[in-house]
Amino acid sequence: MEQNTNNNPTTLSGIQNGVRNGAEYIASLQDGRSVWIDGERIDDVTTDPRFCGAVQSIADLYDIQCNPANEEKMTFISPTSGKRVGRSFMLPRNADDLRLRREMMKTWMDAVGGMMGRTPDFLNVMVSAHASAYELFSVGGEQFGENILNYYEYIRDNDLALTHSLVSPDIDKRLPMYEQPGDMVMRVVRETDEGIYVSGARSVATLGPLANEVLIMPAAAKFPLVEDAEDFAVGFACPLDIPGLKMICRPSFPTKGGFANDPLSSRMDEMDAVLWFEEAFIPWERVFIYRDIKAVQSVIKSPSGPHGSHQSGTRSLAKMEFLLGIAYNLVEINHSRFPNVMVQLSELVAFVETLRALIRVSEVDCIKGPGDTVVPYEQPLNVIRAQYPAMHARALEILQFLGAGNVVVAPSVEDLNSENGTEIKRYCAGADIPAERKMQMLRLAWDASCSSFAGRQNLYEKFFSGDPWRNAQMRGERYPGAREAQDRVWAFLDRNAEWDEKINGK
Ligand SMILES: Cc1cc2nc3c(=O)[nH]c(=O)nc-3n(C[C@H](O)[C@H](O)[C@H](O)COP(=O)(O)OP(=O)(O)OC[C@H]3O[C@@H](n4cnc5c(N)ncnc54)[C@H](O)[C@@H]3O)c2cc1C
Repeated sequence: MEQNTNNNPTTLSGIQNGVRNGAEYIASLQDGRSVWIDGERIDDVTTDPRFCGAVQSIADLYDIQCNPANEEKMTFISPTSGKRVGRSFMLPRNADDLRLRREMMKTWMDAVGGMMGRTPDFLNVMVSAHASAYELFSVGGEQFGENILNYYEYIRDNDLALTHSLVSPDIDKRLPMYEQPGDMVMRVVRETDEGIYVSGARSVATLGPLANEVLIMPAAAKFPLVEDAEDFAVGFACPLDIPGLKMICRPSFPTKGGFANDPLSSRMDEMDAVLWFEEAFIPWERVFIYRDIKAVQSVIKSPSGPHGSHQSGTRSLAKMEFLLGIAYNLVEINHSRFPNVMVQLSELVAFVETLRALIRVSEVDCIKGPGDTVVPYEQPLNVIRAQYPAMHARALEILQFLGAGNVVVAPSVEDLNSENGTEIKRYCAGADIPAERKMQMLRLAWDASCSSFAGRQNLYEKFFSGDPWRNAQMRGERYPGAREAQDRVWAFLDRNAEWDEKINGK
C-alpha cells in the first residue's frame, strides 16, 4: 500500500493524521492529466480560471477535515493504519454511527451550501459500502472481492477523491448498449497477465477533472443478461492521469468577475466530463468485475445505493437550508414580510423539515447490513430522491418570486465602483443595509435561481442518481410495505363482511 505523505503528522489527540489538507489535495491534481475544455487541453486545472475556483472549494473541505478542532467530528481511527482518516469512510455499526457520519457530511455540505453534488464523501461512502459487501464481488472470483476490499483501504488510508461513471453514451435508443454503433461504448479490448485494456466512452463523470481516481461500474440495473455483453461487464478503478484516458468537459459557467459577481458559478462548478479511454491499461488488482454478467447481477445487491442516498439526502437538506437562508434574507433586506411572502417561506420550511425527518428515520430505522454493519433504511431516502427534484425546482421558483426585478438589476462590483456608483448605491440600498451588502445577497440569489449554474443544478437534481422514471418504476415495483397494506385492506373487507352477515344476515 502507498504511504500517505501528508504534512500534518499528528492530531490534537496525538494520533497520527491520515487525512489530507487542502494544499496536498491541490498538489495531487498537478499530475499531467489530460483535461479538455473549449477545444484546448488544460495544463493545470488548479490554476485554470475555469476550474480553480471549484478546486479551492474542495481544498477548503480538506482543510476543514484537518482542523484539529474538528478531529472527532470529521475523522475516525483507521483499523489498518491506526491513523485518523475521514469519517465518511467509516463502516457504520449502528444508528449512532450513521448519525456521526451524517454530521461529518453535513459539515462539508454546509460549507458549499449543498451546491456540489460529488464532494469526495459521496464516493467514500459508496466504495465503503461496496467493501462491506465484498463477498458479492467474489461471485466472479475470490480475487475480485479482495480487490474491492484492498481498494477501499487504499483510498481511505490515502484520503483520495473519487468520481464515478455508471452510464454509457447511446446513439440509438432502440439498440442495447452492446450494439450501439461506432464502437464508442467503453469495453474491454484485451487482457494480459498484468491486467486489462479498455477503450471507448463513459459519461457523465462529475468532478472528473478535480478527482484523483475514477470508479467505473456497469450500469447494473439495465445491464442486459446476454453473453454478447460480456466485454461491457467490467468494473474497475484507476487514477485519472493514466495514459490513454482523457476527460472532455462541458463549457464552464460564464463568470468574469469572480466570487463577488458570481458567487456560485465561480466557486462551485464541480464540472461534468465524458471519459474517453483509448487502450487504457488497468492492472488486475484494480479490477472488481471482469466479463461476468453474474457478477454484475450480484453486485447490484451491494448496499451502496442506500448509503449513497444517505449522503445525497444530507446534501439535499444542506442545500434546501441554504436556499431557505437566501429566501429569508431577501425578505429581510426589503422588509417584505407580507402574508403571501410568508406562505412561500413556509413551503421552504416544510421542505427542510421533511428532509430532516426523512434522513433521521433512515438512521433510526437502519437495517442489518453485511458483516456487522448497518444500512440506512432505504424507503425514506428513496422518498428524498423521488421528491427532491420538485422541491428544488419549486425552491428556485420561490427565490425568483421573492427576488423579482431586484435580482435582475443587481449590478456587478465593477458597476458599483464605476462613475455610476453613486446613483446605483442610492437606488440599490437595502432598508437597513448599504447597497454593497444588499448586492452580495442579490448576486447570490441570481446565481442560485436564474443563472446557467442554477439551470445545471436543476438538471443535476433530476438525473444525478439515474433516470428518474426508471427509478420510480422500480420503487413502485419493489415497495416492501405493499403486501402488508394490501392484506390489511383484504382483512378489513373480510372482517366487516362477517359483521354484516351477523347483523343483517347477508
Ligand atoms: C448534471 C449531471 C451530472 C451527472 N453526473 C453523473 C456522475 O457523476 N456519474 C454518473 O455515473 N452519472 C452521472 N450523471 C448521469 C446520469 O446517471 C444519467 O443522466 C442518467 O442515468 C440518465 O441517463 P442519460 O442521461 O443517458 O439519459 P437517457 O437515457 O438518454 O434518457 C433521456 C430521457 O429519455 C427517456 N428514456 C431513455 N431511454 C428510455 C427507454 N428505453 N424507455 C423509456 N424512456 C427512455 C428517459 O426517461 C429520459 O427522460 C449525471 C447527469 C447529469 C444530468
